Amino acid sequence: MEREWLERDYYKDLGVSPSASSKEISDAYRKLAKKYHPDNNQGDETARDNFTKVATAYEVLHKPDKRKEYDEAREMMRTGAGAGRMFGGGPSAGSSSDGFSFDMNDLLGNLGGMFGGGAGAGNGRRYRPTSGGPRRGQDLDADLYLDFLDAVHGVTTTVAVHGDAPCTMCGGNGARPGTAPEPCPNCGGTGSIALDQGLFSVSQPCSACSATGVYIDDPCPSCRGGGVEQRTRNVTIRVPAGVKDGQRIRVKARGGAGANGGPRGDLYVTVHVKAHERFGRSGDNLTVTMPITYWEAALGTKVSVPTLDDDVTIKIPAGTSSGKKFRVKNRGVKKKSGYGDLIVRVEVAVPAPSQMSEEETSLLEQLRDTSTFRPRAQAEESV
Ligand SMILES: [Zn+2]
Ligand SMILES: [Zn+2]
Repeated sequence: MEREWLERDYYKDLGVSPSASSKEISDAYRKLAKKYHPDNNQGDETARDNFTKVATAYEVLHKPDKRKEYDEAREMMRTGAGAGRMFGGGPSAGSSSDGFSFDMNDLLGNLGGMFGGGAGAGNGRRYRPTSGGPRRGQDLDADLYLDFLDAVHGVTTTVAVHGDAPCTMCGGNGARPGTAPEPCPNCGGTGSIALDQGLFSVSQPCSACSATGVYIDDPCPSCRGGGVEQRTRNVTIRVPAGVKDGQRIRVKARGGAGANGGPRGDLYVTVHVKAHERFGRSGDNLTVTMPITYWEAALGTKVSVPTLDDDVTIKIPAGTSSGKKFRVKNRGVKKKSGYGDLIVRVEVAVPAPSQMSEEETSLLEQLRDTSTFRPRAQAEESV
């Protein structure tokens, strides 16, 4: 609450005038608190934020001594009067007994920015009430669920991202809609001040604008000048062909919005690829399993195999064991240069009794009785 205390217009938050009576303040609070109460607005973040805003404003305004402190501080900021009056040692400065306190360093930091030397000093101008100047946005994470073929071919899609976003009301520039940020008059918009030190000229960050170079006369009421708000937004991303399950894609500058004109963070998207009924993946290789009969395995054959585009025919040589793999070059998944391979695994399928005629059964029995093939011979010998 400490820093906010000076930056926020609590009268505006409650929708009352600065001369409102305590009854008007209580009435306004009751009405708004009911409207935004979390119980009446399940899961609505905006309502929750508004509820907090209203409660905070009421917290300050409904106690006469706190309200007086607040009014004095606002007046001082408005007129740009010296800080001395504020810190003159009155009983209200610093922390007070009812639990309301503000941090002296924060306050001094703010005042340094607002009343710092040069053109800005004491002339009644109000500067963007920043603390620390531009701040890079957060790096954000998101999950993306892709169909198998979309991952193979690449796709343009959207992903829901929750975090800092440019303020909807002002578009992120921090100025009240209808107004625009202007170059800081103290530094001419450069964000730094050149100090003439005889032979040397050194520059230091402009304290009036916290080195942002921007002067906002009337801050956006929604983001209070920072240009950032929390929400969920859909980000369109181009997923490259061949992404793998579990892969993390970095999307530069699509993460959290930076505050006070700072750069955006990055977005990291973790890809989850759904299974395909026919194909599998092994890195850049595509895998597929083809059933063959045992006479095809023993005598050899040609089988037609599906790929990502047209079918290919592969030759199964005589004497192929179940589980043997065949490689079809460049028919796999797109990789950095070229394509992976298609790996075809053959599997000998055995008919169920219901799938065999009497004649087939009889032929197999003949084969059993005449064949000299003994695949377990070695195993039997060693027993
Ligand atoms: Zn400046
Ligand atoms: Zn805004």
